Amino acid sequence: MPNRSIVLHPGRERSLLRRHPWIFSGAVERVEGDPPAGDTVAVRAAGGDFLAWAAYSPRSQIRARVWSWVEHDAVGEAFFQGRIERAVAARAALDVASDAIRLVHGEADGLPGVIADRYGDVVVLQLSTAGADFWRSAIADALAAATGCSAVIERSDVDARAFEGLPPRVGALRGPSPEREIEIREHALRYLVDLDAGQKTGFYLDQRASRGRVGQLARGRRVLNAFCYTGGFTLNALAGGAESVLSIDSSGPALALARRNAALNGFDPRRAEWLEADVFEALRRLRDAAAMFDLIVLDPPKFAPTAAHAERAARAYKDINLLAFKLLRPAGLLATFSCSGGVSADLFQKIVAGAAADAGAQSLVLARLQADADHPVMMSFPEGEYLKGLLLRKA
Ligand code: SAH
Repeated sequence: MPNRSIVLHPGRERSLLRRHPWIFSGAVERVEGDPPAGDTVAVRAAGGDFLAWAAYSPRSQIRARVWSWVEHDAVGEAFFQGRIERAVAARAALDVASDAIRLVHGEADGLPGVIADRYGDVVVLQLSTAGADFWRSAIADALAAATGCSAVIERSDVDARAFEGLPPRVGALRGPSPEREIEIREHALRYLVDLDAGQKTGFYLDQRASRGRVGQLARGRRVLNAFCYTGGFTLNALAGGAESVLSIDSSGPALALARRNAALNGFDPRRAEWLEADVFEALRRLRDAAAMFDLIVLDPPKFAPTAAHAERAARAYKDINLLAFKLLRPAGLLATFSCSGGVSADLFQKIVAGAAADAGAQSLVLARLQADADHPVMMSFPEGEYLKGLLLRKA
C-alpha cells in the first residue's frame, strides 16, 4: 500500500494533539501519495511525527477527519465493527424512553460523517463525508451485526455531501426494503415516521428530552408550538394536559403527519389547531391580533450551518424570540432552541436576551437545554454541540 499522508505546517499539529478531529485545508503543507477521496491517510506533523489516521476529503475545506489517534490501529472492516459495537453498547446503557435512538453520532463515536438512527427494527444510515462514504459497506455490515435489526437503509441526502462532491444516495443497504412508514414510541406517545421523505433521518431524535420537559410544564396552558414538524412538542403538551395547542409549520407533509400522530394517540382534535404558514409571518399576524399564550416553543431549523452565517442567523433568532416574548403572558414559559452549529450557546443566550430587552420583557433562565444523551458531545470538539436551548419564564 502506498504511503499516503498529509503533512501539516509547523505548529498546526496543536489542535490534533488536543484531540480535535478536523484538519482544515489551511493547515496542510502537502499531500503525499495521491490519495483518492475518502481513502485513509496518515497525518504527520511538519517534523514527520505521526499524529493520526484520517479520511481524506480533497473537495472539502475540512480536508481530513480523524478516524484514530493510535498509530497501530488499522482502519479497515474490523476497525469499523469495533467502533460501531462500542457505540451501540453505549446506547444500550442509556434509558431514553423510546424505541427510536441515535446509535452513532459522528465524531462523538469516533466516526466522523456517520449518523445511524434506529427506528424500531430499522437502522437509518446517513453518510455525509468522503471517508464515511468510502466505508459504506463495512459500516452497514457492522450495524446489521451489532443491532440484529432486520433492515439497514440509507438516507444520505444531506446538503453537506455537496461540499464533498458526493451525490445524494438513498435506498436499502441490508435486508428487505422496509415499509415507508414505521411507528415508534417515545415517552409513551406513538408517532409515525416517514423513512423515505421525512426530515433528517425521519425524526428529530435530539429533542426527545426537551419534548418530555415541555410536556411536564403544559398542564392547563395555552401552548404555541412554532416549527412543529410532525408534532413532537405538540403531542407532549397535549399529553401533559395543555388547554390548547396551536402548531405551526411551513411543510404540508410534516403537518399532515402531525395531525395523524395526534389522532393515533387519541387526542381530542378540538384541543389542537394546525397552521401551515411561515412562522415569521404567522407570529406577526398573531401579535397584530393580540393573541396570548402561556407556553411557547420555538424550535426552528438550522439558520447558520457554519459560523459564516452567524450574523444573518442572529437576526432571524432575534426576530422570532422578540415576537415570542410579545405573545407570552406574564409568568409564561418560553422554550427556545438553536440547532445552528455556527451559533454558540453563549451567543444564543445573548441574542435571546437582546430580544427580551427589545420586547420590554424581563425573563429568567429556568434551565439550559441540550440534545438527549444518545447525542453526546466530545469535550475536545465543541462544534459537536449544535443544539442548545433555554427554558425561560417571563417575569
Ligand atoms: N420541533 C420539531 C422539529 C422541528 S424541525 C420536533 O420536535 O420534531 C424544524 C421545522 O421547521 C421543520 O419541520 C421545517 O419544516 C420547519 N420550517 C422551516 N422553516 C420554516 C418557516 N420559515 N416557517 C415555518 N416552518 C418552518
